Amino acid sequence: MKKEGQKEIEGIIHLLSGTRIGGSDDLLQIGGTDLTCIKHPVTLQPYLPGSSLKGKMRSEMERKLGKFSGNNDKKNEPCNCAKTDCFICRVFGPHKKPDHNLGPSRIIVRDAPLHKGGEIELKSENIIDRRVGTALHPRKVERVIAGSEFNFKLIIQYLDIDITDPMPKYTDQTGADALVEFVKAAMRELQRTGIGGGVSKGYGEFKFEDLKLDGQSFSL
Ligand SMILES: [Zn+2]
Repeated sequence: MKKEGQKEIEGIIHLLSGTRIGGSDDLLQIGGTDLTCIKHPVTLQPYLPGSSLKGKMRSEMERKLGKFSGNNDKKNEPCNCAKTDCFICRVFGPHKKPDHNLGPSRIIVRDAPLHKGGEIELKSENIIDRRVGTALHPRKVERVIAGSEFNFKLIIQYLDIDITDPMPKYTDQTGADALVEFVKAAMRELQRTGIGGGVSKGYGEFKFEDLKLDGQSFSL
């Protein structure tokens, strides 16, 4: 198995609503700012961790394609089928399966550093006690303001087995082009569903701008 080449996608993530990066929806602490935003340790500016972007792209594609693992009662683990016709396993790697012949995961998503904006706003959230209907524990969450922009970059690596072995088509493409089409679909799902915490409350809406594939402009 050997690497045949790579393709690079670059662009801007432009926030359309306040975005909460890091912190868990379930985490509740007392006092002060309860949910802080992830910031670069040196510049202290917010950034989008590549691992979070990649993880969200994976889970959205698993949902779109109905690919999960786990037993029938609890099918909510990432796909680990390791089948050669599974783009999830080929591109992102079979979940917790050390022994397979798909090769290394095909994409690397870089941390997306701040490009513009990046101011932090504090938003109050109330947790409602459903039994009595009153607000409990008001908490403040940090959000990166709408209008902020981050530099997005991902690398798609393709191997000889993507070209030579029978690989399924994706939107009629084969080989490296099929990988690219799959990754674009994952980016569309990411854009459709948003990033960071609290997306169900309207946080984390964004659009991709100025997208380039190996320097050539494209749109999703
Ligand atoms: Zn799979």
